[in-house]
Amino acid sequence: MKKRTFIKLCTAAAAMPFELPSLASPEKLTNWAGNIEYSTENVYGASSVDDLRRFVRAHNSFKTLGTRHCFNRIADSTTQLLTTPFADNEPVLDAAARIISVGPGVRYGTICPVLEAKHFALHNLASLPHISVAGAISTGTHGSGINNGNLSTAVTALEFVSAAGDIVTLSRKNDPDTFPGAVVSLGALGIITKVILNIQPTYQIAQTVYENLPFSSLQDHFDEILSAAYSVSLFTDWRNQRINEVWLKALHDLKKPAVKQPKDFFGATRATKNLHPIAEISAENCTEQMGRAGPWYDRLPHFKMGFTPSAGRELQSEYFVPHKNALDAILAVEKLHEQISPHLMITELRTIKADDLWLSPAYKQDSVAIHFTWKPEWAEVAQLLPVIERELAPYSPRPHWGKLFTFAPEELQSRYEKLPDFLALAKQFDPNGKFRNDFLNTNIFSRV
Ligand SMILES: Cc1cc2nc3c(=O)[nH]c(=O)nc-3n(C[C@H](O)[C@H](O)[C@H](O)COP(=O)(O)OP(=O)(O)OC[C@H]3O[C@@H](n4cnc5c(N)ncnc54)[C@H](O)[C@@H]3O)c2cc1C
Repeated sequence: MKKRTFIKLCTAAAAMPFELPSLASPEKLTNWAGNIEYSTENVYGASSVDDLRRFVRAHNSFKTLGTRHCFNRIADSTTQLLTTPFADNEPVLDAAARIISVGPGVRYGTICPVLEAKHFALHNLASLPHISVAGAISTGTHGSGINNGNLSTAVTALEFVSAAGDIVTLSRKNDPDTFPGAVVSLGALGIITKVILNIQPTYQIAQTVYENLPFSSLQDHFDEILSAAYSVSLFTDWRNQRINEVWLKALHDLKKPAVKQPKDFFGATRATKNLHPIAEISAENCTEQMGRAGPWYDRLPHFKMGFTPSAGRELQSEYFVPHKNALDAILAVEKLHEQISPHLMITELRTIKADDLWLSPAYKQDSVAIHFTWKPEWAEVAQLLPVIERELAPYSPRPHWGKLFTFAPEELQSRYEKLPDFLALAKQFDPNGKFRNDFLNTNIFSRV
């Protein structure tokens, strides 16, 4: 479905009296990458929390869409899709309490300038600001930085509508027994109507990119390299035993004179112009580099709001391994380079601090994420993923919930010690499986 048709549908749906049946479109909606066509044409746009509650009470099965940036069928429904174009959905900032309250469907790209205007910031961002906060925190979306938890760790409270249509509020302070299970929820507990995020004073970041880091340097200085800045991303195509690009996002103190990063970084050379992680693509879409400091939200993502992130037509997979095993895991993947490289656009390596969120891929372990941006060649990628997963098996990898993987459900489930508690929580808020779909039934609820 074209973007304009989608917006028209949502706007029309928002204005519709509830009694009308949900809109049927002649074209099926797809995800952002276009590799998934959702399984129903029925898309309803809820215009307010009350409208949403009526919808929830009236339906037995549906899924909520954020900004549709997942690569698998986690957001799919065969019956009904719900969007949340709330008429009144402005973020609300409470400077004294150091929190911002965000409604459903609202993107990071919308709230960041609101925060910056009041001299506040978030602790981290993903590679792109285009994604919705509710969708991102539901899947454990992350950026990088050895001291930075994923984006879900910024959540201090949540409001959602349960399967009964009730409004549920859970907070880290008041609900320590359930809150850690409800943030990375895979959309299985309820429809998020409000996310309350912790905020902090604004800060500046200077981004410097280096080219051609020898793999031998990575082996000899692994932790030094990954902790060389507030956020570090390593990009490799696994060819020629090198990291193609090292992106260092360093904190910058405006009161001090700018410090230019040295020309050499463990054998890599400082770039002389802005670069895209995929060298062949123009850097126009990327955030400013060359050591020029700027606000956090204009440097932490790799891609600028208003421009296409990454490549566009692509597939993505990502595996989290414990930081302590990460070098071995990376070298294990490197052994597969002849199979991987022909189908790959780029790999990114990032760090994520351990957290206490039950279904977070970084649950209780400092992690390194090994990410693959694939060419849109699903037949070949589908053959390769089990090979990579087998090679990573000694390190108990956890896949990104929003990307492509092929683990058997039992294997996936065995990686999450708190899964039984999560299933109990899902039973409490959604006893009849209103918010489940094939993806969740296969990967999560098949344990029941
Ligand atoms: C180009 C690109 C770059 C990416 N970069 C990164 C990255 O740097 N780091 C990273 O970790 N990931 C990254 N991702 C993956 C992405 O961040 C996640 O897939 C994220 O979940 C996308 O959010 P969304 O709003 O598009 O979610 P959707 O795909 O729309 O939905 C995701 C899940 O959230 C649920 N959901 C959405 N809204 C609600 C709601 N209101 N209530 C309840 N459930 C809800 C859906 O039902 C579904 O289960 C990238 C994806 C793309 C396309």
